[in-house]
Amino acid sequence: MRVVVTGVPGVGKSTVLNMASRKMGYGIINFGDVMMELANELGIKNRDEIRKLPVEKQREIQKLAAERIGKMENVFIDTHLSIKTPSGYLPGLPEWVLRAINPSMIVIIEVDPDIIIKRRERDNSRYRDEDSPEMLLEHQSINRAFGASCSVFTGAPLVIIKNEEGMAEKASEILMEKIGYGKH
Ligand code: ATP
Ligand code: AMP
Ligand code: MG
Repeated sequence: MRVVVTGVPGVGKSTVLNMASRKMGYGIINFGDVMMELANELGIKNRDEIRKLPVEKQREIQKLAAERIGKMENVFIDTHLSIKTPSGYLPGLPEWVLRAINPSMIVIIEVDPDIIIKRRERDNSRYRDEDSPEMLLEHQSINRAFGASCSVFTGAPLVIIKNEEGMAEKASEILMEKIGYGKH
């Protein structure tokens, strides 16, 4: 079982996943980590530089990363439905990535844009974009469209979970419930 967990940068994917994985003993593979390992060879030092690479290069690394990740069992995959690049929204899960990963569920983590902006401002560990609320609204709405396409293509259900301020633990519990943890 491979559960793909997505959401715009700074929404709290990694935070929510760390909580769920601690409780469940389920592994997490961060797609960006695998891409970083591959991008290191190109002299990329920082994960927030990957989305600024030429789109062809990003696609090349993305494909290699998907092939590695597709071999892993029982993992949450921490990734993106779309990556905001200078050339437009790059699909994080194009057809060849979906085929390699074959996810059993596609999750979108969301929250209000104003909250995302504050989270990005507070988190100095990353170089996230300075998007306006309107830009984030657009990005989250594009992600829903991409998520619906991925769901139709794979047959995997699409789940939308809110990660409200101070409620990451609750979001992780909803995630666990959706994947049926504790039912068997
Ligand atoms: P990226 O796609 O860039 O990796 P992300 O979605 O993984 O982003 P996180 O790194 O998990 O985002 O979270 C971004 C910031 O928001 C962190 O500082 C984290 O502590 C904080 N955060 C996450 N969830 C919540 C929450 N529910 N309430 C308050 N702060 C939160
Ligand atoms: P993250 O830590 O989730 O922000 O991931 C770091 C970077 O990895 C992102 O900003 C993207 O450039 C890249 N990345 C992550 N997942 C994907 C994906 N599915 N397709 C393409 N690039 C991705
Ligand atoms: Mg993250």
